[in-house]
This record gives sequence, C-alpha cells and structure tokens, in this order.
Amino acid sequence: MFSFVGKDLFIENVKVLDIEKKYKTATYIYSKNKIIQNYKAYHTPLAESRRSGLICFAVKTNPNVSLLKILAKLKSGTDTVSGGEIYRSLEAGILPEKIVYAGVGKTAEEIEFALKKNIFMFNVESFQELEAIDKIAKKLKKVAHIAFRINPDVDPDTHSHIVTGKKGTKFGIPYDEALHAYAFAKKHKNVLPIGIHSHIGSQILDVSAYKLAAVKIKKITDELAKNGIQIEYINCGGGLGIAYKKDQKVPTPADLMKEIFEVFDADKKFIFEPGRSIIGDAGCLLTKVIYEKSSGEKNFLIVDAAMNDLIRPSLYDAYHEIIPIKDVKEEMFKTDVVGPVCESGDFLAKDRVLPRLKQGDFLIVTCTGAYGAAMASEYNLRPHLAQVLIDKDKMTLIRKRGQYKDLR
Ligand SMILES: *Cc1c(COP(=O)(O)O)cnc(C)c1O
Repeated sequence: MFSFVGKDLFIENVKVLDIEKKYKTATYIYSKNKIIQNYKAYHTPLAESRRSGLICFAVKTNPNVSLLKILAKLKSGTDTVSGGEIYRSLEAGILPEKIVYAGVGKTAEEIEFALKKNIFMFNVESFQELEAIDKIAKKLKKVAHIAFRINPDVDPDTHSHIVTGKKGTKFGIPYDEALHAYAFAKKHKNVLPIGIHSHIGSQILDVSAYKLAAVKIKKITDELAKNGIQIEYINCGGGLGIAYKKDQKVPTPADLMKEIFEVFDADKKFIFEPGRSIIGDAGCLLTKVIYEKSSGEKNFLIVDAAMNDLIRPSLYDAYHEIIPIKDVKEEMFKTDVVGPVCESGDFLAKDRVLPRLKQGDFLIVTCTGAYGAAMASEYNLRPHLAQVLIDKDKMTLIRKRGQYKDLR
C-alpha cells in the first residue's frame, strides 16, 4: 500500500503530503486497490477449491458506506451485528441474500427489520433468541434461516478482550448444548436450521485454532445428520490476523481454508466473515506533530490524532507501526506518540525509536483500517476525522471532517 519514491511517501499513486494539502490532518486514508486485493485473497482460493461459499465482510470493523460499496461491487456479503449494520449494508448495495446477522442481544425490532429485509441467515446465540425469532417470523408469515453460533471452547492465542470461542465468554451456545439447541429449533416451525456458526476470536495468527474448532464443529454436524438434521452451511467466522509489525508472518486466507476444508465433506458450503484481514492493512491514519516535549527521561510527540480517533493502543495495548514522513537520515530518538485528550491512557505508540520529528512534521499510523474510525468517538468534543479513499491517482473524500456545530 505504501511506497517511497525518493524521500516522498506514496499511497497507491498519490503523494501523502498532497492528501494533507487537500484534506489537512488528522485523516484516515484507505487504499481501494488494497481492499480489492485483500478480498481476492479470500475469493480466489475459495473459487479454486471449487467449494461453494460466501465471503461476508464484518461491517463492524469499518462501516463506511463508500468502502462497503467497493465490496458490494466485488459481490461480497456482510456479517452484521445490529439492525444499523443491516441497513448500512443494504444502502451500500449488498444483496440481502448475502447478509448474515450475529450478536447476543438482537432486539425484537432488529429481528423484525432483518426478516422484512429477507436477510440470508441469523446466527443465533441463545435459546430465548431462537424463540423470539420464531415468534416474529410467525407473525410475518416467514421462515427464518438460522445457524446456531456454537462456542467450540478453543483458545486462540490472542488478546483476552477479543477471545470469543472459549468457555465462559458471553458468545454463542456452549459446545455441549449444541445438539440440544438444534433439537429445540426443530420444534419451532418458523425457523429452519441450515447452518452452524463459530467465531473463535480476532487477530488470530495460528490457523491451528481454526482446525481445532472445525474438528469439533464437524462432530456436531455428524451427530445432527444421524438425527436427520442436515447442516448445509459451515460458517467459520472471521478473526484472521494481520501484520501489525513490519515483517511479521501471518497466515493467509488460503492457509485458513486449507485447514478447514480438510475437515469437512465436499458437499458442505462455507461462510467466512473476515473483517480485520480485509480492511485492517488497507487503512492508515495521517497525523501531524503539534508539539514536542520532554518530561523526566521521556520524550513526547503530541500529535493531532488521539485515543478518541484510534482507541486500539489505549484499549488493547495494540501496537501500530509508525511511518515518519521525514528523511530517515535524521538523528534517531526514542519517544511516545500521544494525543491531546486529557487522559494519561491517551497514546498511539510508546517508546518508539523514530527520526527526530519536529513540530509540524507528519507521520502515518499504519494498519488502522479495522476498528479505527469504527470505534471513534467525539470524547473531549473532538470532531470525527475526515476519511479519504485513494484509487490509483485519485483521492475521494468519503467522510467529511466533523464540524463544531455538529458535535453531539
Ligand atoms: C467481529 C466479528 C467478525 C470479524 O472479526 P475479525 O477479527 O475482524 O475478522 C466476524 N464474525 C463475527 C461474528 C464477529 O463478531
């Protein structure tokens, strides 16, 4: 996504400093062709496997409608977790028959909305939810396609806030209640169980956790088949990690599919719900140094982006690579990169060795496409950032910078 031509940093064919000239900072920037490349990294091995399947982009990672339109053109589906995300998907031109809907707390209003829009499938997370869907579907004279989200009790090696497939999390149906759940669904006439779903976590860097989950899910589908319940769709969830650190090795979607396809018979259909691995490294955050200062042993670069714009470092202690837009021959120094928000937890990077950036210099925080703008707030009454899409040599403003008069 990035390239240096001499000292100038480019995103696709656009010089980053030209983006700054036009749109100022801080600004989220996305590369259209990187998004397409990331989507194809799923689509190509799936097509070549000759298994049928559906790729459903996880909207919660980045719900910008212009970005969803790119994916809609590629015939992507979406994985949604609220009525708002279903609405947004349809607005972007995603086909309803490619929308799946997860979440532990779907309200009656959301379920009714989803049914009226004829989405493809509900990923059901509790017995009471199943009853609610059945009741509302009956009222609307519809039959809802469902999968149970099963918690396979595997433990991917990732941050504890983003583990979802282990015993004792709020997500899904416990593994040993899976058969009971499908038997329960069978007793309800307005739901049709056609799938099984598991999503084991996020930023997963070792595909063996998926394999473990797949083997456990296969056991359930085999048992169900014996009881006359044929599961057509295996929904493998999302969660594949990306390289937040330079030169970090990450598994590809092809690696993931290889592990999973080995487990299941050829007639099964598959759903993948990638979020981060589609949009994460296709986005970055351009920010400017407002002030430099030192306190005790430490140096600080105070920049015009903060935890309200990008909360991942503060929330998960997440690491994002920083690219200084500065001649690398400069003297190096160790510094924290912090925002203006009045919280000591407000930082973008800690103890980084960077060329000695000065007031007015620019830097890029990489891999902010997922869970960046999506999780932003106006805390400290800081207006939301501008978002710009790069397509070869073209820049398009896809979200206007917030204005004071619009602050909530
Ligand atoms: C968040 C989420 C995803 C996407 O996860 P990534 O780690 O961003 O790929 C997929 N499915 C469900 C159910 C989710 O909640």
